[in-house]
Amino acid sequence: MTDIRLVLVSCCAPCSAGAIRQLSDHGIDGVSDFIVLFYNPNIFPESEYTKRLDEQIKYCEQCGVKYAVLGYDHDAWKNEMRGLEQEPERGARCSKCFEYRFRRAADFARKNGYNAIASVLGVSRHKSQAQVDTAAQSVCGDIKYLPIVWDENLRVKINKNSDFYRQNYCGCEFSIRKV
Ligand code: SF4
Repeated sequence: MTDIRLVLVSCCAPCSAGAIRQLSDHGIDGVSDFIVLFYNPNIFPESEYTKRLDEQIKYCEQCGVKYAVLGYDHDAWKNEMRGLEQEPERGARCSKCFEYRFRRAADFARKNGYNAIASVLGVSRHKSQAQVDTAAQSVCGDIKYLPIVWDENLRVKINKNSDFYRQNYCGCEFSIRKV
């Protein structure tokens, strides 16, 4: 695929820092343009959402990269997850949560002239990259999902040298008690 105009789906600054630098400083074959998308209605409480969003914006601005933020409606997200509250992390609720966010990201891509999606939702050691990839592939439709494997060493190095706000749980209220 050439002339890739990429939407990078991000959950937070610490997870996306390496991918952003890879795209902005080194480039990735075929990628002509990219934007960081922060769409995380899963995060609870709202004060936590704001902390992660502020940190994401700060880092994007520091790197001089484009970013977009989609609305925060945690009640709507929670409604979609009904019946899956007791699922473990990496279980069915997480698949649905990823699908929920990727569906909206694909819609954003379509409406804004982007033709591909990649994400950092799987980089945490608590996540399953395969689960993230499957969820994305099932909902992105005509927007190509690229299962890019990001440079882990770069991400770790940037994190070591930064004072990012770092959360200790995935995002939703159901993941708080399982840490
Ligand atoms: S644990 Fe994380 S991925 Fe799973 S449902 Fe909660 S916020 Fe979404």
